[in-house]
Parts: sequence; structure tokens; C-alpha cells
Amino acid sequence: MTIANNLDSVRQQIAKAAATSSYKQQVKLLAVSKTKPAELIRSAYEAGQTEFGENYLQEALDKQKHLQDLPLTWHFIGPIQSNKTKQIAQHFDWVHSVDRLKVATRLNEARAEIGTLPLNICLQVNISSEASKSGVSLTELSELASAICSLPHLSLRGIMAIPAPTEDQVQQRANFAQLASALQLLQKQLPEAPLDTLSMGMSNDLEAAILEGATYVRVGTAIFGQRPPVKPENK
Ligand SMILES: *Cc1c(COP(=O)(O)O)cnc(C)c1O
Repeated sequence: MTIANNLDSVRQQIAKAAATSSYKQQVKLLAVSKTKPAELIRSAYEAGQTEFGENYLQEALDKQKHLQDLPLTWHFIGPIQSNKTKQIAQHFDWVHSVDRLKVATRLNEARAEIGTLPLNICLQVNISSEASKSGVSLTELSELASAICSLPHLSLRGIMAIPAPTEDQVQQRANFAQLASALQLLQKQLPEAPLDTLSMGMSNDLEAAILEGATYVRVGTAIFGQRPPVKPENK
């Protein structure tokens, strides 16, 4: 097993699913490197991967320092504490896990200070409320999206979700289809927003996600191998 081989087979899986998706969308691969060392990210880069997703701020900043020489795009995909928003806005190009206005407002202010391009944002949506505490509910999505649209240093690109894990492909597709409709509603509601992103699908359900219109799949285990159990302080 090497990172390059794993990346190859994930890319093939993506291409195959994309070829049969009725959405005919372009699907991008986000390599989720949480808990994995900088050297493995470098190997993935050497095998052609440039976009990486991280969940824990301090760990991500340490790795970014080691990889400064590479032209990488960094996505923050973990739960956001509001006292971390400044560093997130300064060190990432995308944030997929925005689920409340307070966090969005703070990211907007911090991004204004550094005066670069707007920060790309996805709203994390919670469609199976028991499974996870993060994410805005479908009923509150539209109001949060409208409010975020008026923040000039954020670019509202779409929605992200982590549905409750299931092996059942029919259930997987039903969950992802719900997210696709939620994005379509937002696109109608906010025609001026650059809403082109459905961030959904991980190692075990990326095919179902692509068949329902995913434009970013976030893949960790299938590229970098199993992770150790989550440390309590990172929960
Ligand atoms: C860890 C993680 C992933 C990757 O999950 P795998 O099952 O390892 O592919 C994707 N998205 C988020 C938000 C994650 O935290």
C-alpha cells in the first residue's frame, strides 16, 4: 500500500461514479489528512493531490509550517470554536463546517484584516439530528445562508454534511438527495451567491454522494489508511 496507489484507486472510483451521475458535475477530491503526518501529505502532493482537509487547528498549523514550500489549498472541515476563528480565517482557503452566524461574523472580520480574497464557506447541515451535534438544521438553513451572504469577506459556496453512517446504498442516496435539494432551494433563494458546491461523501459512501451531485468528496481513510481513535481533547 502506498499513498500514490491509494490515490489512484480513489480517483478511479470517483471517475467511474461521475461518469454515471446524471448531474454531469465535476467532482473534486479533498484529501482528509487529520492525524496524519506532514510527510504523508507531501507524498500525496507528489502523487498530484493539492487540496487537503484538516479538522484540528493546532495540528493543521504545525503541518502547514512544514509544507510551506508546496502550493497547497487548505480546507478546514472540523467543528469551529469561536476563539479559533481568527487563525482559521488566516490560514485556510475554505471552511466547510460553518453552522452559526457568530462564527461566520468572526471569520468575516478576521478575513477583512488580512485583505486577501474572500474565504470560501460551506454551511454544515445536520440532516440526522441524533448522529451529530454539529450543523444547522434544514429548517434554519435558509435564514443562516441569507445572513452570511451579506458578509463581504466570505463567499458562500454551498453546503456540507456528514450523514449518519450506513452501509445501505439506498439510504445513503436518500440522505445525499436531501442535501442536493437543499442546495437547489438555496440557489433559487439567493441567485447572486456563487453556490456551486456540495461537499458530501467520504471513504465509505463517495459513490452514492457523487450519484446525487457531490462536487467535493472528502476522503481520508481510503487515501491515508486507518486513523487512531479520536483523542478526548480533540472531540
Ligand atoms: C474525517 C473526516 C472525513 C474523512 O472520513 P473517511 O471516512 O476517513 O474518509 C471527511 N469529512 C470530515 C468532516 C471528517 O471529519
